[in-house]
Amino acid sequence: MIPQWVIEKKRDGGVLDDAEIRAFIDGFTTGRIPDYQMSALAMAIYFKGMDERETATLTDAMMRSGDVIDFSAWPRPTADKHSTGGIGDKLSLMIAPLAAAAGLAVPMISGRGLGITGGTLDKLESIPGFNTRLTPEQFKAQIYGDVRCAIIGQTARIAPADKILYALRDVTGTVPSIPLITASIMSKKLAEGAQSLVMDIKCGRGAFMKTLEDAEALALSILRTGQALGRNMAAFITDMDQPLGRTAGNGVEIEETLEVLNGKGPADVRELTLVFAAKMAELSGISCNPEKLLDDGTALAYFYRMVKAQGGNLDALPKAKFSRILTAPRSGYVSEVDADAIGRGVLELGAGRKAVADTLDFAAGIRNLVQAGEFVKAGDPLMEILADSEAKTAPAMTWFEQAVTLVVEPPAPRKLILKTMN
Ligand code: URA
Repeated sequence: MIPQWVIEKKRDGGVLDDAEIRAFIDGFTTGRIPDYQMSALAMAIYFKGMDERETATLTDAMMRSGDVIDFSAWPRPTADKHSTGGIGDKLSLMIAPLAAAAGLAVPMISGRGLGITGGTLDKLESIPGFNTRLTPEQFKAQIYGDVRCAIIGQTARIAPADKILYALRDVTGTVPSIPLITASIMSKKLAEGAQSLVMDIKCGRGAFMKTLEDAEALALSILRTGQALGRNMAAFITDMDQPLGRTAGNGVEIEETLEVLNGKGPADVRELTLVFAAKMAELSGISCNPEKLLDDGTALAYFYRMVKAQGGNLDALPKAKFSRILTAPRSGYVSEVDADAIGRGVLELGAGRKAVADTLDFAAGIRNLVQAGEFVKAGDPLMEILADSEAKTAPAMTWFEQAVTLVVEPPAPRKLILKTMN
């Protein structure tokens, strides 16, 4: 295989055959194909796209660039849920233990915050001691044992081709390409070994995919790729014009997770948790009552087991040194809470990264955020803002002050699930 001929073929709109794609990814991962040729191919894919077979082959080649965890000897069905990322999206933290409580084994490889969207790993690391770097052997042992769920980050041995390609895409303008996003997400997800996968494609101001049309295209590409590679798949497109729940940050989202696992918490977080866990069970052929498992403390017990097994101490969650309340300037119904503005404000507080090497303030964030449809009187709280100092809140306040829209008439109810696909 001559790399420049493959690049030229894609540049001119050709369809790559399996051998070309596999040889290219193998050459890139082993260092024989340099970054500049991989970047050129990524740009050609960005402009010319890939068909379903090419995307599935690219995903498979990237998945096989590292370890592929195999649970086939394990009698229990394995399932996972993955989100493309949003604001206040803490669903994985509840879904993993809930699905484990339902009898599934849940091997979850999650990511860190990307842009203004939060990351499950960052949220978990706000629990002092929580180890997101289990080896594949430890990961497998935890899932085989009585914890039945584990959440870790991408290790150097899981889809290394994605790790290096993602870094290149980030600096060559080739991130927003549906085949490349599909292969990136799915190579990691499929390497973790789950037989069934529920995808949550976030859509709206606080998401990667801003329009329903783009979200549908990504959902379809991910569904078809997973199915082509032999997995049971379902996808939901869900609203990310507004944040999920009443908290955004890291430690505060663990607090909200505990509320939901105690049978309380915001209705939107609870609803999606139940729907996604039920879909994971359905894809795996298991009948269960997720509502009962959430309300009777069974899912909470699995969460405690997972945190303990991964070394976390929930008694020492971070506490912010400074807190202030943003109040309503006038009375009215909340018609919208802008997820983009909330995400930017929370990042300014220090809960997200401005540069790759930034350390996070795990205590920073917001809680008690109002939700669309609620009525507030002038002077009522709209949200509580938590930070290390008053000075740290200054750049965030402009975002928070414009995030909540108040209107005179009650707004139409908010639709959480925009589309279900399988
Ligand atoms: N998340 C990923 O893991 N990869 C992408 O390309 C985009 C989002």
